[in-house]
Amino acid sequence: MAEGKKYDVIIVGGGPAGLACGQYSARAGRKTALIEEMAPGGQAMIIDEIENYPGLEKLSGFELASKFEQQATGFGCEIVYGTVNSIKKLSDGSFSLDTTDGEYLSPVVVIATGSKHRNLEVPGEKELTGHGVSYCATCDGPFFRNKKILVCGGGDSACQESMYLRKLSDNVTVTHRRDRFRAQASIVKAMQDAGIKTKMNMTVQSINGENGKVKSVTFQDKATGEVSTEEYDGVFVFVGYIPQNQLVPDCEKDETGFIKTDSHMMTSVPGIFAIGDVRDTPFRQIVTAAADGAVAAHYASEYIDERNNNAY
Ligand code: NAP
Repeated sequence: MAEGKKYDVIIVGGGPAGLACGQYSARAGRKTALIEEMAPGGQAMIIDEIENYPGLEKLSGFELASKFEQQATGFGCEIVYGTVNSIKKLSDGSFSLDTTDGEYLSPVVVIATGSKHRNLEVPGEKELTGHGVSYCATCDGPFFRNKKILVCGGGDSACQESMYLRKLSDNVTVTHRRDRFRAQASIVKAMQDAGIKTKMNMTVQSINGENGKVKSVTFQDKATGEVSTEEYDGVFVFVGYIPQNQLVPDCEKDETGFIKTDSHMMTSVPGIFAIGDVRDTPFRQIVTAAADGAVAAHYASEYIDERNNNAY
């Protein structure tokens, strides 16, 4: 007989998806634990300003994440601080989670582990991380007040974070490897209106240091092949995210590693659900992550009822 701590639903990861799932699951009367390695909030915690969460005025990611957390715990979701090392399927179809806080047992596991930033993978990037190269504008932007800043990437993150950096410096340039941004048109327009410079159709060849700090960046123009080097004080990299899918090797993934689910958020492994940024989904927003969480909680509850009925 297994001895671990027993829950109806265990959620792994405390970003907006996980917290929303925790809220809905606990509110539905399911004994719910959410296991999180660090502070709840996930990637939302590093967003300076959120203006598109329905029903709420502009607020910081930290403020929104705190509201999510309060609401989840208010309904009885237990937040556990720890790392999940592995998830094992037991003979009755339920799961055992080996964690730094001991063993946890549940018929349902919801994977809400999100994604981690991708690196540019160019010479100098790794060595100069923390010395002028950064992946978080709100964390490190203030070190570059009134300095010359380069932002790399062409998606919503690069364009939106460049606007935060623009508040700190009037010398912000966004560079992208194509001649057109991937970001939403409204964000691109706001960025252009904010007076942010762009350097399009360029690949970053290297980030160059001097005295242990970023000194310059070398580019190659994709149209002409011309190589040029320009001085910068800070380089912010926003070139996408890598899904944190390692805990569920048996769940089906897309070609880039995002976990596939059905419309109930159930993965290819019965009883394992996936929500938010780790899921194969066409549009990643806090509101869509929260919605994933609500959907998963609802169908996880239904799945538990079906399991219990079939047991008789
Ligand atoms: P993303 O949409 O995947 O964009 C990544 C960008 O980095 C792309 O422009 C890509 O170029 C570029 N890139 C990738 N690898 C590169 C490399 N090795 N070298 C140079 N450039 C590289 O990632 P994201 O901007 O972080 O956004 C992630 C998700 O969060 C998206 O779904 C986004 O909509 C969402 N998000 C939404 C908001 C908002 O609504 N306010 C804010 C932030 C993020 P290509 O274009 O050539 O592929």
